[in-house]
Amino acid sequence: MTATLLFLVADTGGGHRAAADAVAQALRHDYPGAFAPVLCDPLGGPGSAAVLRRLTGLYGPSIRLAPWAWGAVYHGCDFRASARILRSTLLTLADRPVADAVARHRPAAIVSFHPLTGSAAIRIRDVAAPRAPVVTIVTDLVSIHATWRDGDADRIVVPPSAAWVPGGRPGRARVDIGPPVAAAFAAGPPRPAERAALRRSLGLDEHRFLVLLTGGGEGSGGIASRATAILRHFDDVGVVVLSGRNRRLHDRLASLAGRWGGRLTVRGFVDNMADWLRCADVLAGKAGPGTIAEATCCGTPLLLTSHLPGQESGNIEFVVGAGAGRHVPTVRRLVREIGLLRRDPAAVDRMRTASARLGRPGAASEIAALLADLVGVPAPAVPTGLDRRGAEGTPSLTGL
Ligand code: UDP
Repeated sequence: MTATLLFLVADTGGGHRAAADAVAQALRHDYPGAFAPVLCDPLGGPGSAAVLRRLTGLYGPSIRLAPWAWGAVYHGCDFRASARILRSTLLTLADRPVADAVARHRPAAIVSFHPLTGSAAIRIRDVAAPRAPVVTIVTDLVSIHATWRDGDADRIVVPPSAAWVPGGRPGRARVDIGPPVAAAFAAGPPRPAERAALRRSLGLDEHRFLVLLTGGGEGSGGIASRATAILRHFDDVGVVVLSGRNRRLHDRLASLAGRWGGRLTVRGFVDNMADWLRCADVLAGKAGPGTIAEATCCGTPLLLTSHLPGQESGNIEFVVGAGAGRHVPTVRRLVREIGLLRRDPAAVDRMRTASARLGRPGAASEIAALLADLVGVPAPAVPTGLDRRGAEGTPSLTGL
């Protein structure tokens, strides 16, 4: 029998959906035919409340244009009391789409990948699906916001890098796994020949030092000025900008690409992030947890240029302390660091090794095993593992 799992996500940034996708892929690969993950976005998807849609729609512009304002909201709500008020007022508007999905799909478990979807999962579980366990998958790395703390979740899956006690009843405690990444990231650092082949397949020069600039799903963090500074300063460095959902950034840089003699490549929201990460010499950009988790699985060195106040504050120390990257908050320091690294391949190799050491490529499979255990699906006859790439071609999730 196939067990339906209801996955709750929201598109504030790209990390929550990517984590859900990774777990769905691991379930498909490790337990063929045993699970049917169904995706629901109760904050911005079909049937969601207009006020929640408007608020989640403001996330991208606010972190791009006024990260300090986002920081004030984040810190203002980062208390048990304010999180509780948020859960019992505004977030009750997320109940309807979750209730509809539960009524329609009768899930064996509800899995929440977003801090603002867990409370609806618990309320609807209590009234409509008392036997369905609720599992929270925390997608942040180090600093964990109070809204993730749903004491009544049956399990809270937290990356081992986070020093955080979720509370809740005994037996419903934290499980240290994560963060989940898709199989494409699990292959580790590429060998030189593989990197060259990847670059060719992406239309990039094989020999130039290559900097990949990203700003998460929303394309935030001052990417344009950094890209042009690198291109101006060096005439033998290639730059790839992944602008995510930031159309204005994409259009602005794409219109300039011709000026740089093929050294600037601009893409919008890509679905082959592993290829870009694996062929780059370094990644430069915002210290997003998803990006760090994926880059470390690929052994990509990280030059962290910015972070969102609060939720990404601890990520820089996590990476720099492990020797997997450097903190380069100003354009000048970024340029200086690239100047040093491109003349010192041994230093890049050391960072690559340190980066790969931080990666947790098996996390999605471990979460799949936890979910299987919770809903009583027996362990697979064939060993599970990291080579889930065969599962990638199939559509990832059933959306609502
Ligand atoms: N991402 C992607 N394509 C893009 C840009 C980003 O698939 O063009 C994904 C990226 O692989 C990662 C997520 O979006 O999984 C970004 O997550 P992160 O936590 O770094 O930042 P967020 O966007 O959530 O702030």
